[in-house]
Amino acid sequence: MKHLLLATHNIHKIIEIKDMLKDLPIQITTLTDLNDDEEVDETGKTFEENAYIKAFHFAKKHHLPTIADDSGLVVDALGGRPGIYSQRYSGQGDLANNLKLLEEMKNQTQRNAHFVSVIVLCEPNGSYQSFEGHVHGLIHDKIEGSQGFGYDAIFYYPPFLKTFGMTPMDLKNQVSHRALALRKLKEVL
Ligand code: IMP
Repeated sequence: MKHLLLATHNIHKIIEIKDMLKDLPIQITTLTDLNDDEEVDETGKTFEENAYIKAFHFAKKHHLPTIADDSGLVVDALGGRPGIYSQRYSGQGDLANNLKLLEEMKNQTQRNAHFVSVIVLCEPNGSYQSFEGHVHGLIHDKIEGSQGFGYDAIFYYPPFLKTFGMTPMDLKNQVSHRALALRKLKEVL
């Protein structure tokens, strides 16, 4: 059985990734299982660079092939912001991030946006493969829905006629950027 390290403590990601890979003969260990609380600075300029920095760091440290992801929200009218800065956009957490973005989009009619997920699978020697997924939607005009995390409550997904924040997790996870990237990873594993 192949043994993989999942370089995250994010419980949303752990559940989603373990569920997606559950039918493969793979043993998944997370940083939480290893009691490894080390923070790695995300100094890259792209989602892929940041995912690679994390994956390589922990692959080398724990001598295990390692999966890491970096994700975020890209808003067309804001020139791609918040992008790789999605998590730290306001510096004050998810609600403040959402309010800041709504304010910046207040008089905007062009509301296209997409979530990006890049997953990197890295060997302890630094060789790696990366997998990318996108999901397209619109920035809503208000916070709506209490499910999910991050920008879910202001991300309106036209096929569901509602925000991701109003969408049950299992349904969101069928169409999400991370699910698409994970499907590509799964084919390789
Ligand atoms: P990271 O991938 O852990 O660096 O997180 C990037 C940030 O992007 C998160 O903290 C959220 O703000 C945002 N984000 C990424 N994926 C999602 C999602 O599925 N829903 C809502 N926000 C997300």
